Amino acid sequence: MLKVDHIRKDFPILSRQVNGKPLVYFDNAATSQTPQQVIDVIVDYYSNYNANIHRGVHTLSQEATDKYEEARNTVQRHFNAKHNYEIILTAGTTESINLVAYGFTTLLSKGDEIIVSALEHHSNIVPWQMLCERTGAILKVIPANLDGELIMNAYDDLLSDRTKLVLVNHISNALGTINPIEYIIKKAHDFGAAVLIDGAQACPHLIPDVQALDVDFYVTSAHKMCGPTGVGMLYGKEEWLTKLPPYQGGGEMIDQVSFEKTTYAGLPHKFEAGTPNICGVIAFGAAIDYMNAIGFSEIAEYEHELLDYGTKKLLEIEGLKIYGTSKNKTSVISFNLEGIHPYDVGTLLDKMGIAVRTGHHCTQPIMDFFKIPGTVRASFAFYNTKSEIDVLVEGVKKAKMMLM
Ligand code: PLP
Repeated sequence: MLKVDHIRKDFPILSRQVNGKPLVYFDNAATSQTPQQVIDVIVDYYSNYNANIHRGVHTLSQEATDKYEEARNTVQRHFNAKHNYEIILTAGTTESINLVAYGFTTLLSKGDEIIVSALEHHSNIVPWQMLCERTGAILKVIPANLDGELIMNAYDDLLSDRTKLVLVNHISNALGTINPIEYIIKKAHDFGAAVLIDGAQACPHLIPDVQALDVDFYVTSAHKMCGPTGVGMLYGKEEWLTKLPPYQGGGEMIDQVSFEKTTYAGLPHKFEAGTPNICGVIAFGAAIDYMNAIGFSEIAEYEHELLDYGTKKLLEIEGLKIYGTSKNKTSVISFNLEGIHPYDVGTLLDKMGIAVRTGHHCTQPIMDFFKIPGTVRASFAFYNTKSEIDVLVEGVKKAKMMLM
């Protein structure tokens, strides 16, 4: 069992007030909060060894380089990548996806097909649309059912020898649905297609094993899992990363530069042009260590309890409808009150110190499918409590009374 009272003390922000009320932070799917252990690593970096990496002979540069590469090894171990050079440190999920989508420009031809799902975040749609524009490839979509689950029969029907790429999120940010990625990956491979899994919403709740999944690319962001913003990773199988061209040119990613011909560095540096977010990467490693010390199976079990409790309590409110009713989901509750705009509910909840997300959650296609402009989304993390859920439920009841 998690010692939640104890864990909450790690997060200074959880003891602040918002609009004169104790903060109830339920916007974890957008960004998780940062524990003191990770904040300390950031302070230590800027206080003691802030320097550029990989190119200095001086002590600070070597210390920073060692910590940066240690963080890469932490990421490698966490995701069980075979080699540390299969971990590319990026600005986050969005950059990781764009890097792969850009790389495929030279590998696709007119008429090739790319499959995404109806549940994708815009960052796993738009880069592929741009790739289609550059190459003449065709975008196909796996539809969802009314529970917010992907329809696997329809996926089977979309696959063919023309399919070159399949891009699906591990867990939907808008609804919390856990997608059957093992099946999706295996079926795609039967047709020789490569698979990229967007793990931004999965990594706060579970540990993906990229070798067991046999996935070609897996991407995530540190800020969803207690780390800083603007940093994340791309895992890619060595064979794919070797095939893809560099995404950006600049310092660090080269072997030799002359005006006649430039040659590129090997993996992973080929994809890490310019000075990276050194402190952010080191803090990403610390965030992974922090979450592992708490324990992912304990986190998942506790968050499930919160999900069940929150779902039951919210459904007691008349006129409240939950979107995303799969049995296979994480601690995200997306809902609306009948006849009331989600933005109005979110604004009133904020006045009560409760942070939820409102709107389309960067997933307009699935909102269109449900014929709604958006939802109110409460997403729970391992540092949330049932009594905070009680505050939310009372807040929603109050908002309903005020807006009816
Ligand atoms: N994919 C999913 C499923 C997400 O939830 C998010 C962020 O909300 C992203 C991609 C984009 O992540 P980032 O903004 O950190 O690049």
